Amino acid sequence: MTVGRLTTKSKFYIDLDYWEQNGRNFREEVYDALCETCKKMYSLEEARLVDHVDPETGQVKRMDALLDCASAECGHAPEFLNPKMPLTRAIFRAFIAAGNEPQSAEEIYARIKKGSPNIILKELLSQQMEADGITAV
Ligand SMILES: [Zn+2]
Repeated sequence: MTVGRLTTKSKFYIDLDYWEQNGRNFREEVYDALCETCKKMYSLEEARLVDHVDPETGQVKRMDALLDCASAECGHAPEFLNPKMPLTRAIFRAFIAAGNEPQSAEEIYARIKKGSPNIILKELLSQQMEADGITAV
């Protein structure tokens, strides 16, 4: 499927500048996604950067500790991406699980196993996801 210039292989990410410009706190969303054990280890108020290792490329980059934990630890827990979740929520969680590395509809589908790449692409372009700062790279 192609929508304008975008296909199920086009990459998207969560634009964190958009969140800041709209006075919204992305860290709250990430904190909500953490498992109960990890919630106890972190405080929402204290922003801390840690070295995050990309599991595929081995590249190290500085990342908010909350997002690092959500992607490296909690993202693997079965309840993190639960099949009963609404699709838009599952897609948002897929970005958190990937440490907000750009992902295509096909890659998101491989992660969440919900809907189809075409359906996910449509969601990525929906007003609801746009309001969550989901942007094509
Ligand atoms: Zn956890």
